[in-house]
Amino acid sequence: MDSSIISKIEKAKQYSEQKDRVNITSFAATFQGNHNQYDVHFENGAWRCECRFFVTKKVCSHTMALQRILDEMLTRQPEPASTS
Ligand SMILES: [Zn+2]
Repeated sequence: MDSSIISKIEKAKQYSEQKDRVNITSFAATFQGNHNQYDVHFENGAWRCECRFFVTKKVCSHTMALQRILDEMLTRQPEPASTS
């Protein structure tokens, strides 16, 4: 195999251990719940899920589960600007 590819594979292995290098800005996923499958979206730091619970609470078990799985790779919401 090409030696430049081998060094890239080595680098990829190191990078894959350093999830904080990755900043997910948006993605779409399907989530298999216990009863139904839901489309979940993440865009500009905001979650969206099509399940009924999310509509009223703006959060649900699906978005919270994905938050846990992807935690350190999700775009950080900027801290609210200080007004003082
Ligand atoms: Zn949901």
